[in-house]
Amino acid sequence: MENLAQLLSTQDMGILLEHTHAMVVLVENDGILVSWNPAFDSYKKIFPSAKKLEDFFSQYDKEVILSKLSEKTKHSWVTDILLNEEDETLSFGCVLVPVSNERMLFIAEQITSGPVGPENVERLNRQIKLFRIESEFTKKLARNKQIELESVMVQASEVAQIDALTFLVNRRMIVRELQSEVIRAQRYDSPFSISVVDIDHFKNVNDTYGHQIGDETLRQVAHQLRDHIRHPDMAGRYGGEEFLILLPNSDAKAASEQASRLCKQVRENVIEVEYHTLNITISIGVAQFRNGEDTWETLLNRADNAMYEAKNNGRDRWVAAAD
Ligand code: GH3
Ligand code: MG
Ligand code: MG
Repeated sequence: MENLAQLLSTQDMGILLEHTHAMVVLVENDGILVSWNPAFDSYKKIFPSAKKLEDFFSQYDKEVILSKLSEKTKHSWVTDILLNEEDETLSFGCVLVPVSNERMLFIAEQITSGPVGPENVERLNRQIKLFRIESEFTKKLARNKQIELESVMVQASEVAQIDALTFLVNRRMIVRELQSEVIRAQRYDSPFSISVVDIDHFKNVNDTYGHQIGDETLRQVAHQLRDHIRHPDMAGRYGGEEFLILLPNSDAKAASEQASRLCKQVRENVIEVEYHTLNITISIGVAQFRNGEDTWETLLNRADNAMYEAKNNGRDRWVAAAD
């Protein structure tokens, strides 16, 4: 390939100097400006009174450029050049080369990823804007996560209302339902009854077969209760081997019929667990809500007392509390 410089005329050189983005400055050995290209011209306008090359550098760099000029040899280095009187600078790759007539040619080309200058400030501003958008997005994402979390919490609280062993509603939930049903019965003066169900001699099951078989027995009894009540009745696990059944719109007679059916069901349904067959019975106390007299607690107490009466009467039976 031929040497480019040799192929270019003086006029061509002029074109090159006019169009290049690099600043090209011809200086005397002491740095006095002699001539420059348009790229430097637009820059020089910032410092109209500047006469010497060092005028474009900060105090520290002034000494550097002066020493380079005095050496009169080729130098290439990176330095910051002033952009304005506020000491803002931009990084430039610089070359200082001795040329004819004891002069030097100073060539400087901006390094785009340099220290903070207007363009870099602009770029940083864009990044900050982007960051803000991103952080907005992150916030939105966090909000979505929050919603997701809340729905998990709702699911978890639903799970928390369910008894893990029997999958019936737990004590907290069945009591809450009892309270609402009492309020409903008071407001509409509608009949409402409850049954407290307790497994007979359940301690013996644990003692004889172990806790695991005890658990499985408990589960099976719970499922029988659940499967042999009608909508909108509701059964929940009230305690260890105690269950509470709510019978909205039912009087003690209807509740007693159900209690009788449940006793028969559990008695006749032999429970089979791990090659063991267990005969289980239950005792039930029934109580009907007395509007104007009962609270949910007194209603529960009356049903509980009736259940103990059934136990005392020989178990495997139901007793209805007196009106
Ligand atoms: P009663 O006929 O008077 O009700 O006698 P019982 O043995 O059923 O009554 P008691 O209250 O003396 O015993 C209840 C037993 O139920 C004691 C406890 O170990 C057992 N139990 C309570 N909760 C669970 C459970 O979740 N799993 C198992 N396996 N046993 C439980
Ligand atoms: Mg008990
Ligand atoms: Mg019991």
